[in-house]
Amino acid sequence: MSKRIIFLFLLLQLLGAVSITQTPKPPETIFIRAGKFFDSEKAVLLPARDIIVKGNIIESVGENLPVPAGATVIDLRELTVLPGLIDSHTHLLYLESPKNDLTLEGIKALTIEGTPLRALRGAARGKTFLMAGITSVRDLGNSGRFGDVALRQAINEGSVEGPRMYVSGPGLSPVGGQFPGLKSNYQAIAEEEYRIIRGAEDARLAVRENVTLGARVIKIYSNNTPNPGYLSIEEMRAIVDEAHLMGVKVAAHATDDKAVRRAVEAGVDSIEHGYQIEDATLALMKEKNVVLVPTDVSSSELKRYFELSGKPVPGDPKAAVEPQSDRLRRAIKAGVTIAAGSDNYINFEMPQGAAAKRVLFAYQESGVELTQILQWATFNAGKLVADGRIGVIKPKALADIIAVAGDPTKDLAAIEKVKFVMKNGTIYMRP
Ligand SMILES: [Zn+2]
Repeated sequence: MSKRIIFLFLLLQLLGAVSITQTPKPPETIFIRAGKFFDSEKAVLLPARDIIVKGNIIESVGENLPVPAGATVIDLRELTVLPGLIDSHTHLLYLESPKNDLTLEGIKALTIEGTPLRALRGAARGKTFLMAGITSVRDLGNSGRFGDVALRQAINEGSVEGPRMYVSGPGLSPVGGQFPGLKSNYQAIAEEEYRIIRGAEDARLAVRENVTLGARVIKIYSNNTPNPGYLSIEEMRAIVDEAHLMGVKVAAHATDDKAVRRAVEAGVDSIEHGYQIEDATLALMKEKNVVLVPTDVSSSELKRYFELSGKPVPGDPKAAVEPQSDRLRRAIKAGVTIAAGSDNYINFEMPQGAAAKRVLFAYQESGVELTQILQWATFNAGKLVADGRIGVIKPKALADIIAVAGDPTKDLAAIEKVKFVMKNGTIYMRP
């Protein structure tokens, strides 16, 4: 083996020497004139700005910049320019009919649909995210065995067009995954979609497996609703310890206060959903710098869900979403950092990328200021998902830039009028 490594090393040196003798093609320069500019770091809308992009990196941002020689000029003076939107919680390889439940749809995805077809359909969904101005997603499981890693590779190499994907591989779960009702002799089916954890040492091993096989974030189920289990604190501590050792963050599905509190105590980086959180737990999240990803649903989506399911709408949808609104307002008051995430795996009979953006309207319904919502979907999500390399338009950031018609800081509907999309310096949509 060592001989092969030496050979490889010499080969790399040789290739390096060859490349010096060739003149490398300079990266393309793009000069963008923005009519209005959303500063995601400060959460304010600024007047006209110019942006210079070189290759896949933002080089400079300022007022009345000179156009560099040979640059392609893109005129967005009629539009509002923002960082590409980020969805911190997606499932590109899973789409559920409102007519069925998670167990039936999940098992169907595994046994009838199969991973290759799921990945192909995920690619088609990914394109709708990109066209909706969502240039990055953090995809958290429900992808079979590493179908998400395959889709990410296809996108990164340019075989298909889609958002940047930060993927988890199978989520680490207590027994049964999220498939309640599976009989004991069919539990192995759950292990096709989830990595079932059996103790702290196994939890460490699961992290090593996932990261080695391509995961760049670890997804855990502090509680695996709708099943009744909880991971032990020892298991979650082992997961966090091993993940941080390998340089990846831990995202914890946690729906009730107990699950949230245990995951926060174990040291996770983000709480997903957190539908019920007590004030004392919110204070602990703030203290330990744990991000909340509130995958909330608006009253209109809730109503639509029941209409599509064929079941009667249970009571008043506005009253039904009030508890999640209340905890969101309490989280803001407690100073908890929030990142936008849709978790929208329901088939609303519309492009999934457009459906994913509905979560921003749910936040609005809870009374959150629009500039804050936009910051959650850009700057805050970028810090959580990619350590600040995305979600911001400033020098050295990756060139993910979108433009919309109208002013989304005054009317959120503008976010649905995407006219320009750039990801990693490549333009996918232009006015
Ligand atoms: Zn989810």
